[in-house]
Formats: sequence, C-alpha cells, structure tokens
Amino acid sequence: MKKEFVVIGLGRFGGSIVGELISQGAHVMAIDHSSDRVDEFASIATQAVVANSTDEAVLKSLGIRNFEHVIVAIGEDIQASILTTIILKEIGVEKITVKAQNDYHEKVLRKIGADFVVHPERDMGIRIANNMLSNTVLDYLELSDEHSIMELKANDNIAGNSMIDLDIRAKYGITIVGIKRGTEIIVSPQADDKIQLGDIMLVIGADADINRFVKKAMKE
Ligand code: ATP
Repeated sequence: MKKEFVVIGLGRFGGSIVGELISQGAHVMAIDHSSDRVDEFASIATQAVVANSTDEAVLKSLGIRNFEHVIVAIGEDIQASILTTIILKEIGVEKITVKAQNDYHEKVLRKIGADFVVHPERDMGIRIANNMLSNTVLDYLELSDEHSIMELKANDNIAGNSMIDLDIRAKYGITIVGIKRGTEIIVSPQADDKIQLGDIMLVIGADADINRFVKKAMKE
C-alpha cells in the first residue's frame, strides 16, 4: 500500500517535501491558503487543496485524520503554525512533523505534542559549518542529543590498521558498523579487515567518544 502524507504550507521547504515524497511513490495531499501556490502543485501532488489550516472544520472535512503523517511547513506565521499543530493533535493525527522558525517556536511545538520538530535552516547551517571545519567528519546522523552515526574519512594515521589494531570498541566505546570504499560497502567489518586510505568509516557511538577517537587516533 502507498504511504499517505499531508503537507501544509507550500513554500520552498514544504514544496521540496511534496516533490520528494511524490518522486518516491507516496500519495500526498498538498495544502496552502494561497491559490497561486496550490496551482503550482496541482500537477505534482496527488491532491492539491486551497485551505486555511487554522480552520478546524476545513481540516476535518478533508479527512486529515486518515493520513499517516502530516507535515506543517508554515514558516513565518508562527501563530498559524502553532494553531494548526494544536488542531491536528486534537483531531487525532498519528504523526505530526512541524518546521520551527526559532528556538521558542520549537519549545512551544514540543509542549503541544508535535512528534517531530525540524529546524532546517539551523540544522543545515550547523552541518555545513562542521563539514567546513573538519577534513575527517564528512557527515553525521544524530540519534539522540548525545549519540550519532558519523562518516569519518580515513587519513594516514588510520590507514593500514585492521579492526583489531584499532580496537576502537575497547579503547573508545564506539563501533565501526560499515566501511564505504568507492562504490563498495563493507557491512560489519571483520577483525582482520584493514582500513585503506580514503575509506569512509561509518562509526556509531556517543559524540564525546567519537570526538575522542577523531582527536587521539586520527589526530585531527
Ligand atoms: P520557505 O519554506 O519558502 O522558507 P517560509 O519559511 O518563508 O517558507 P512561509 O512562506 O511563511 O514559510 O510559509 C510557507 C507556506 O505556508 C506559504 O506558501 C503560505 O502561503 C503557507 N501558509 C501560511 N499560513 C497558512 C495557513 N494558515 N494555512 C495554509 N497555508 C498557510
């Protein structure tokens, strides 16, 4: 069965979510109170509707409750974003993701029960700054406030060592779950697998432990 989503707010962020969901085969109802925006998505989304999401009766009449996941991508009008989230919660939508405009907005969204709060500009800014500062950490996925999966590029200090030589689970409490070598992926590398220069190591663990490994073993 196809997955079913609603995207409310068809700015750059909401619009790109609609495009990607559709390209991956999902059903998407796209909603905006601007008819110009909705017209843009009429031929892209499964259904494109002009509606004000702060109107509970309208959301109910659209059957929003039956969708698996609703994304609120209203940016500037924080009041509308909050009110929409409250209404979606009251209607009983199972999963709600909301784009936050700032930290206060994020706090309120969490208080009123948004399941996921995203902060795309801030998070992308942090990611890009980290990439600019480090030659080693290529990318990361936050698992919690303190844990991540990081992509580390093997440098001269690491290349040539096997998993046993590095012994990073015992020394740092972190685990190499995979190695990307060009187009090849080595899942769960074995004890005698050797790291080559330029390999990308997928490492899981506490951020502090991964950073310790990067500083001590990779000497970045
Ligand atoms: P971008 O994603 O382009 O950065 P943004 O953060 O500037 O967007 P806005 O342009 O403020 O966000 O809002 C995104 C969209 O949400 C706009 O197309 C706007 O018309 C729509 N929108 C705002 N309020 C409502 C509402 N109450 N109901 C439906 N759509 C709304």
